[in-house]
Amino acid sequence: MVLKILKYPEHVLEEPGEPVTAFDADLRKFVADMFETTYASQGIGLAAPQVGVSKRLTVIDLSMGKDPAQKLVLINPELISKEGKQYEEEGCLSFPDIREKVVRASKVRIRAQDENGKWFEMDGEELLARAFQHEIDHLDGVLFIFRMSALKRSLSLRKIRKMQKDGTW
Ligand SMILES: [Zn+2]
Repeated sequence: MVLKILKYPEHVLEEPGEPVTAFDADLRKFVADMFETTYASQGIGLAAPQVGVSKRLTVIDLSMGKDPAQKLVLINPELISKEGKQYEEEGCLSFPDIREKVVRASKVRIRAQDENGKWFEMDGEELLARAFQHEIDHLDGVLFIFRMSALKRSLSLRKIRKMQKDGTW
């Protein structure tokens, strides 16, 4: 089932998510819906708060559905370490048509639980590192516009206000 993606400034997007504690059939159904929703919007990642569920869960697939081996489910994820810097353009499904450069670490290590509750660690570089940081930020209620420079943020907010006025947001 394709879920509705909430756009900024929906309040739930800026609330920290609650830890996931039940690793059951409902969770697996939700994860499947999250992937379906990501692919329907041609995204590479989606966090539960973006569909109105204030939980610490995110899905990532850099192949956008082309390679099942790249499907990642991160439950209760944490950044363990980060190094380096990258400055690349980023987008977010809750901010359609907004793309701006954001500073992120270039290499990170994360720790998360899978759908069965089993903890694992994983390294990510470049785009994957960026996806990890962007999605984990969502679970803390931190949106990518707040990672932009003040100038880029005000330009983005102005663009959003204009789209809201035009009825295209
Ligand atoms: Zn996002």
